[in-house]
Amino acid sequence: KADVLYLRSLLGEHADFPKPGIVFLDIFPIFRSPFALETLFTHLMHHITTVTLPANKINKIDVVVGLDARGFLLGPPLALRLHAAFVPVRKQGKLPGEVVKASYEKEYGTDIFEMQSHSIAPGQSVIVIDDLIATGGSAKAAGELVALQGSSVLEYLFIVGLPFLKGADKLDAPAYWMVEGD
Ligand code: 5GP
Repeated sequence: KADVLYLRSLLGEHADFPKPGIVFLDIFPIFRSPFALETLFTHLMHHITTVTLPANKINKIDVVVGLDARGFLLGPPLALRLHAAFVPVRKQGKLPGEVVKASYEKEYGTDIFEMQSHSIAPGQSVIVIDDLIATGGSAKAAGELVALQGSSVLEYLFIVGLPFLKGADKLDAPAYWMVEGD
């Protein structure tokens, strides 16, 4: 589809970042173009209203969960359009008050994600958003945090997916990405 090809053409590719052997896909060129950013959110809204809501037989998303840090740029504008709450998942030690925790695998060892307790009510309809899914470890941890609040994730949304890493297989709900990386 034209909108996907357009957004794909804007992605930056940076060899050997943040370390040798990794090709980092950069979403910020999309953010530098208001037309591209509008295209991005229009695409996500179209997907949610035509696929996510009917598949789950609901008419509203209650909560958009965004992952530290680029999910924080995508989540709030999407939540505004959906008239939904936005809830951040942050790296350990950044959120005040009572938190729930989940660990996830990094390349070297594990890291911990946190979410403020009682930020999602049991039974609310929840989606998770981030810029890119690689191994799926961080999205899986986000799903665990939602489960610790007595709810569950309906769908995981990304701009970019790397299907060869099979990250979606780790998740407890469908994953959707607009653009495929390789
Ligand atoms: P995973 O947990 O799925 O292995 O890694 C996904 C996380 O790492 C996401 O939060 C994403 O922002 C970040 N990430 C890993 N590789 C890339 C990349 O090439 N480009 C971007 N933009 N983010 C990446």
